[in-house]
Amino acid sequence: MNILVTGGAGFIGSNFIHYMLEKHPDDNLINLDLLTYAGNIHNLDDVKDNPHYHFVKGNIVNRELVTHLVHEFNIDHIVNFAAESHVDRSILHPEVFVETNVQGTLALLDVAKKEGIAKFLQVSTDEVYGTLGATGYFTEESPLQPNSPYSASKASADMMVRAYYETYGLNVNITRCSNNYGPYQFPEKLIPLMTSNGMEGKDLPIYGNGKNIRDWLYVSDHCQAIDLVLRNGKPGEVYNVGGHNERTNNEIVHLIVDNLGISEDHIKYVKDRLGHDKRYAIDPTKIETELGWKPEYTFDTGIVKTIDWYKDNETWWKPLKAKAALK
Ligand code: NAD
Repeated sequence: MNILVTGGAGFIGSNFIHYMLEKHPDDNLINLDLLTYAGNIHNLDDVKDNPHYHFVKGNIVNRELVTHLVHEFNIDHIVNFAAESHVDRSILHPEVFVETNVQGTLALLDVAKKEGIAKFLQVSTDEVYGTLGATGYFTEESPLQPNSPYSASKASADMMVRAYYETYGLNVNITRCSNNYGPYQFPEKLIPLMTSNGMEGKDLPIYGNGKNIRDWLYVSDHCQAIDLVLRNGKPGEVYNVGGHNERTNNEIVHLIVDNLGISEDHIKYVKDRLGHDKRYAIDPTKIETELGWKPEYTFDTGIVKTIDWYKDNETWWKPLKAKAALK
């Protein structure tokens, strides 16, 4: 396969490129990334000389550039990770999210249609389903009820992807995954922020009462799911991805505090996020039964591996935090 991976310098995209080069050494991966604040080319330093990997700096909204890349590299598959991905930033600047997440996806779909791409895979999120009460799970049939500008932009993109399947017959898939964690996650997100703050002796700020629940998945298990859907997903289908690892934010932060051996006094409860979804939880039965997906990591094994990675890679996250002035 010759795969155009957009947003491949971000957290999940760079993990996906590592995963694919290892798992399918004969595939070619072209990484198109704008290198926004969230993109970090150094995530891929170890593969930059691999002849099956190529990096191009550019914007997914640029149809000419994307068309040129499709021709130059004989692209047959597109996996779209490129996005503005941070909910807090979407509350401050929703327009950037519409530009990249909606217009950008539309531009890629247009090129995919015109150039006869074999499959377009949209990497989406469980946040498009909105929020759950204390019980129940999101299935692929759950209505889209996004609550933040971020999730609204991702839901809009998903609708466009669906429309290109229904209207033009473009072969598409959508994956909707729960919260990811693991190496190379920008330190504004919960687990790397709390781990790095703990290591720096700073406060650990928790929104509201800390009882919001997220379903966590180790990033390489998400990459495995995307790879399976790319190869074997049925045309037009949506696949939910989640590992039944529901944890409150309080549980996560206490686990990090215990692991680092620091005092709980660092935990500070701060004003809740606007429109903060209460609970997300995924039913992954479809991808498990249809495609044989099985996560390798439990939360207990994945979180220790993750915290260890941030302990071992201060030189990776310290400059990012300083540049973004993260507290
Ligand atoms: P990220 O913010 O770490 O990375 C996004 C990447 O996209 C960055 O490298 C950035 O430079 C690039 N980018 C942004 N705008 C671009 C543009 N206009 N053109 C080209 N590149 C651009 O995000 P992530 O956490 O790796 O998430 C990747 C995808 O997975 C997103 O679509 C997100 O919605 C989805 N997702 C994330 C999670 C999660 O927990 N992180 C869970 C489910 C789904």
